[in-house]
Amino acid sequence: AAQSLQIVLQGAFARELPEMAVPWRAEDAPDPRLLVLDDALAAELGLDPAWLRSPEGVGLLTGTVVPDGATPVAQAYAGHQFGGYSPRLGDGRALLLGELIDVDGERRDLHLKGSGRTPFARNGDGLAAVGPMLREVIVSRAMHALGIPTTRSLAVVATGRPVRRETILPGAVLARVASSHLRVGSFQYARATGDVDLVRRLADHAISRHHPDVAGEPNPYVALLERVIDAQASLVARWMLVGFVHGVMNTDNMTISGETIDYGPCAFMEAFDPSTVYSSIDEGGRYAYGNQPVVAEWNLARLAEALLPLLHDDQEQAVEIAMAALGAFRPRYAAAWSAGMRAKLGLGDAVDDVALAPLAEDLLAQMQAGRADHTVFFRALGAAARGDDAAARGMVVDAAAFDRWVERWRALTPDADLMDRVNPVYVPRNHLVEESLAAAVDGDLEPLRRLLDVVAAPYDERPGLERYAAPAPADFGAYTTFC
Ligand code: AMP
Ligand code: MG
Ligand code: MG
Repeated sequence: AAQSLQIVLQGAFARELPEMAVPWRAEDAPDPRLLVLDDALAAELGLDPAWLRSPEGVGLLTGTVVPDGATPVAQAYAGHQFGGYSPRLGDGRALLLGELIDVDGERRDLHLKGSGRTPFARNGDGLAAVGPMLREVIVSRAMHALGIPTTRSLAVVATGRPVRRETILPGAVLARVASSHLRVGSFQYARATGDVDLVRRLADHAISRHHPDVAGEPNPYVALLERVIDAQASLVARWMLVGFVHGVMNTDNMTISGETIDYGPCAFMEAFDPSTVYSSIDEGGRYAYGNQPVVAEWNLARLAEALLPLLHDDQEQAVEIAMAALGAFRPRYAAAWSAGMRAKLGLGDAVDDVALAPLAEDLLAQMQAGRADHTVFFRALGAAARGDDAAARGMVVDAAAFDRWVERWRALTPDADLMDRVNPVYVPRNHLVEESLAAAVDGDLEPLRRLLDVVAAPYDERPGLERYAAPAPADFGAYTTFC
């Protein structure tokens, strides 16, 4: 049967980096049931959604049916978790099935999460529960629709296998698609082996997948580092502009591609406050909303360290090269954030960064004082640009200070239509995410489907969806996430 599979999986990672790829197979799924499938993503990948819904397709999506010639592997990586280094993390409950070439000719990883224990499982059971996997589906769908680089969720299949957490939960496998699963932690792992040739092969693999144009440069590895720094500076700026809190920015959860990865305890902030933390395990607030740029920079320094042997033969000079590359993070981040904030405020290039900074700072301070909902407030500013500023004024504490701000801002002639194209109406509201997951675990997939439809078109305000555009009711209380 394997030859008839409508899918060809390549194994460039496994072939080029065998030291970091342990061939492995998924655990059996006793009673597989497809819960969600992203038909549009399937089409992008050149896969027939009808086939993916067939028993054979569902077998692929759980790793129990493997195309001929494919080599599923657990990937090795290391990582700093909350600042502490672990030399051996790796795919403890995940498998890279292989790479497929999408309809645009791009190489994409097809990866499973929750597919059983691997040699990297340590004390873990190798499994995933339906709720958290559907959560990744919702948030990754929203991020993609917001135009923020992200891994994608192709499907979730309930396995019929119970998973023991605080209670017994239904198990699931998530099929995830990414431009690669290379992480900062992948480079840390390679570097820690002491085998510089392995670091070089990993870097060459990353270059061929993400930045083939730098291959011909005098030092392509310096260029790779610079590109990753750029991509992450821009990514984290995008998170900040939409109020996204990743929640677990360990170096193993930061990609080389610049895609958001590993939707565990993440959440969208409601009341604007830089100290916002949702994750139950982030007691020190290391990964608070406002810390994300600094953490990204710290993680990138760990990448630079891992790359040092490739940057220059003389390690003192290599450190200087790395420091210069890292020095670009802050200006890149500031430029990306300013460009995004300029658009959120409906302003054109005539308002330069120097003029923008105090305007934005003043506004954010007013939002914080008023505990204004990040999403509602920026959308309400669009109405303010059209002359109706009552809603936004109602969300701040000092109305007179707000009126002075509006006067300064209107003098810059904000473009309300531009604002409505960049300030979403709909983000996945924490209480609605939880509501839809609870229903799904109970067997009702309708709330999940509706929420996915809503977040898939975040800028397009539609009648009847007011509930999806509003913050959580007060009785929802403080939100805590678990991973
Ligand atoms: P994460 O917090 O999801 O980024 O995972 C950190 C590390 O723990 C990775 O090496 C995962 O593969 C591993 N891990 C997380 N959950 C499990 C589990 N249930 N079974 C085995 N390994 C796990
Ligand atoms: Mg992870
Ligand atoms: Mg996780």
